Amino acid sequence: MSLLSERIMNMSTSATLAMAAKARELKAEGKDIIGLSLGEPDFNTPDFIKEAAIQAINEDYNSYTPVDGYVELKQAVITKFKRDNNLTYTLPQIVVSTGAKQCLYNVAMVMLNSGDEVILPCPYWVSYSDIVKVSEGVPVEVATSIENDFKMTAAQLEAAITPKTKMVWFSSPCNPSGSVYSREELEALAEVLRKHPNIYVVSDEIYEHINFIGGHVSMAEIDGMYDRTITINGVSKAFAMTGWRIGYLGAPEAIARACNKIQGQVTSGANCIAQRAVITALNESPSKVQFMIDEFKVRRDLVLDLLNDIDGFTTNTPEGAFYVFPNISSFFGKTLKGKKINNATDFSLYLLEEALVATVTGEAFGNPNCIRISYAASQDQIIEAIKRIKEAVS
Ligand code: PLP
Repeated sequence: MSLLSERIMNMSTSATLAMAAKARELKAEGKDIIGLSLGEPDFNTPDFIKEAAIQAINEDYNSYTPVDGYVELKQAVITKFKRDNNLTYTLPQIVVSTGAKQCLYNVAMVMLNSGDEVILPCPYWVSYSDIVKVSEGVPVEVATSIENDFKMTAAQLEAAITPKTKMVWFSSPCNPSGSVYSREELEALAEVLRKHPNIYVVSDEIYEHINFIGGHVSMAEIDGMYDRTITINGVSKAFAMTGWRIGYLGAPEAIARACNKIQGQVTSGANCIAQRAVITALNESPSKVQFMIDEFKVRRDLVLDLLNDIDGFTTNTPEGAFYVFPNISSFFGKTLKGKKINNATDFSLYLLEEALVATVTGEAFGNPNCIRISYAASQDQIIEAIKRIKEAVS
């Protein structure tokens, strides 16, 4: 009998975390690494949120919380969904978890049976595929292309559906491509789904506020989709609160209750101080964090300008999040400074070793022709990093 379960042996390590660990190792050896691999804002949590946490500590918030979150926080989530997304949820439809990641895991665990298929438009966020697999689901990847702004079309969705399809998972704005689905595009997908009433959608909207075109649209807003959509969100990205670990979902009541049940056996309620701070964050107007979004947009334009000046990089124009996902397949088969580049992983490792810039291979996101570059870094770091990349590939 082996020490470890097949479940864990079959799971891949999160590529973004693995790349960050490798970059840290090289840094510890004294190498001047510029990290463009991580999915977290380089801003500090705003003071008004920190003050709410300090107040919660002073007010002795230290006990276990209700498994699905404090009622005041769930109420703030309901207010946020109404204010920003025109979605009406009731208290039993909301579950607060330890990050949006736990929301996703809970949903997979409570909804998937062995062999159920989950459609994942590629590129998708790294953890989707492994969360589906560990829940005994089968990821069904739908390839998209840079020409189509990395979005799944209605025809592609239709072609991927089988009698075993249980769910569709996607993020908009998308990590890693930065693509944002418009209302018309979501309506086209919904039109297909209306013909298949048993298929549910996970709409991961964690980058909702980091949107450079305005007008975020939730899948649950689209006609006929509310009763079959699980809307996932959280505070990690827009409020620069990755380490606070608070995410939440709004879902049909039976699904939310099941998430509450599994969470009650696995982790219990999320951290009490973080929950109190998030009540303050969500009750504020999103305009309070607009300065970060404005800065991300300036950096997006800077990164695109610099990358488009390098032969062999092809980019789309990301409309949200803080990543670009250039196609670098023109380097495959070439030898750069004595190193043969066969795929995106080779290319990403080459950039780490030769340019001392950490990126993430697109293979981790289900797209083997691209790499992900995060611009959650200062403009000076971005300029220096892309200068080094240009030198390394010239
Ligand atoms: N969904 C997407 C698309 C993400 O990019 C991330 C984090 O990188 C998460 C979910 C998880 O967020 P959280 O920090 O709330 O667990």
